[in-house]
Amino acid sequence: MPHAPIHVIGGGLAGSEAAWQIARVGVPVVLHEMRPHRQTEAHQTGGLAELVCSNSFRSDDAATNAVGLLHEEMRRSGSLIMAAGDRHKLPAGGALAVDRDGFSDEVTQQLESHPLVTLARGEIAGLPPPEWDSVIVATGPLTSPALSAAIGGLTGETELAFFDAIAPIVHLETIDESITWRQSRYDKPGPAGSGADYINCPMSREDYERFLDALLAADKTSFKQWEASTPYFDGCLPIEVMGERGRDTLRFGPMKPVGLSNPHRPGERPHAVVQLRQDNALGTLWNMVGFQTKLKHGEQVRIFRMIPGLENAEFARLGGLHRNTFLNSPRLLDGELRLKAEPRLRFAGQITGCEGYVESAAIGLLAGRAAAAERLGQAWVPPPPTTAFGALLGHITGGHIAAESEGGARSFQPMNVNFGLFPPIEEPVRDAAGNRIKGKERGAARKRALTARALADLDGWLASPHRVAAE
Ligand SMILES: Cc1cc2nc3c(=O)[nH]c(=O)nc-3n(C[C@H](O)[C@H](O)[C@H](O)COP(=O)(O)OP(=O)(O)OC[C@H]3O[C@@H](n4cnc5c(N)ncnc54)[C@H](O)[C@@H]3O)c2cc1C
Repeated sequence: MPHAPIHVIGGGLAGSEAAWQIARVGVPVVLHEMRPHRQTEAHQTGGLAELVCSNSFRSDDAATNAVGLLHEEMRRSGSLIMAAGDRHKLPAGGALAVDRDGFSDEVTQQLESHPLVTLARGEIAGLPPPEWDSVIVATGPLTSPALSAAIGGLTGETELAFFDAIAPIVHLETIDESITWRQSRYDKPGPAGSGADYINCPMSREDYERFLDALLAADKTSFKQWEASTPYFDGCLPIEVMGERGRDTLRFGPMKPVGLSNPHRPGERPHAVVQLRQDNALGTLWNMVGFQTKLKHGEQVRIFRMIPGLENAEFARLGGLHRNTFLNSPRLLDGELRLKAEPRLRFAGQITGCEGYVESAAIGLLAGRAAAAERLGQAWVPPPPTTAFGALLGHITGGHIAAESEGGARSFQPMNVNFGLFPPIEEPVRDAAGNRIKGKERGAARKRALTARALADLDGWLASPHRVAAE
């Protein structure tokens, strides 16, 4: 008897990849896309996998770049998005840039011509009917309001956000801990803490004044019209807006120095303190508390490196504020991206809390494989945490450390794939020829070791007996 179809809602980056992965193992799929009948605020065409802004999939370097590694993992997993991207690539140095129309046309044509794929044009304006027993919701950052409302009703409204409020995240090894110190305000341990849970960066009056002047003069990104009209500001004001409200506003807000004492300068009270909080269970990534911002990325790097202790900071993520519909996934989804409260519904793409075209497609790939395996009665083994797939899935379904206490705002925010999400690896000290690796080459050697481990583990995962074997 033929299998009942899996329904995928949303024919963007994630939904197109999910549908492809399902069909290629012999399971029928219905792909529901509301465009061109109904557009989002950013899409312009009726094509599947439309790129709404840049035409770049970012670095294609699989040896020393985490998104380049993700490209390679997807290629090895038979990704439609990567195959179409490779076929329509444009000259762009080390990046993979694509001809957006050729790319979208190719994805549309491949799916439309697949005998197991039915493309259904129309909005799903509420929860899917109960007879759809396996559904992947991949409706993206601009999910239509009717479906968002239905999902919010299912998850509880506070678990579905309509804006991200992204504070920068710093790689731990680039923080100068000879200047900073670890302490929670008033040494409070909190539910999961030790009393020394924050990394504190002290500022003198001069440091603070200089920082504030730079912040106020910095280049900001403007809001798109449809972003500006959404009332997201409560509880997540950008720091530059707080700075504009008065010279001491930040010192009484996220940079308040109270309840903290600097062991490097006993008896001296800092004028302001920037706090970083552990962001992932591995302890490799630290989040600048309250530093959500619309500053341009170059300006963020320049200005945040003025903070004592962060002079050499490398950022796993820079700050931002965007219209973005996404779930509190670590709480709501299981390890197979199923909604715990209603497991017939899986989620994929940016709505799960990843960020970027490639990451969204990668989560679509995993959701598609998991749903297909379930339909075929096979056990699905998630990718190892050492792979880019596993690192990203870990961020979404479990790696994030929640900090629900600050102003009531939940702390899970979307993230691009980056090496801070991978389990650490011992830094190689000698190269293949046995020569000692010099200081500045060590970072690249560490990344090469991470990517080599990832690809070896990926190949093992793809070859494992529980994988979904392509027909
Ligand atoms: C304005 C903007 C600019 C961005 N720029 C970039 C960038 O330059 N680079 C980058 O890497 N990432 C960018 N992103 C982030 C993100 O990676 C992309 O939005 C990406 O397309 C997300 O993939 P997705 O599959 O999750 O969602 P999408 O690609 O948006 O796909 C979702 C699909 O679902 C459809 N849909 C929505 N609701 C319904 C419904 N109820 N019924 C049926 N269909 C529905 C939509 O029409 C859409 O086709 C941007 C996001 C936005 C909003």
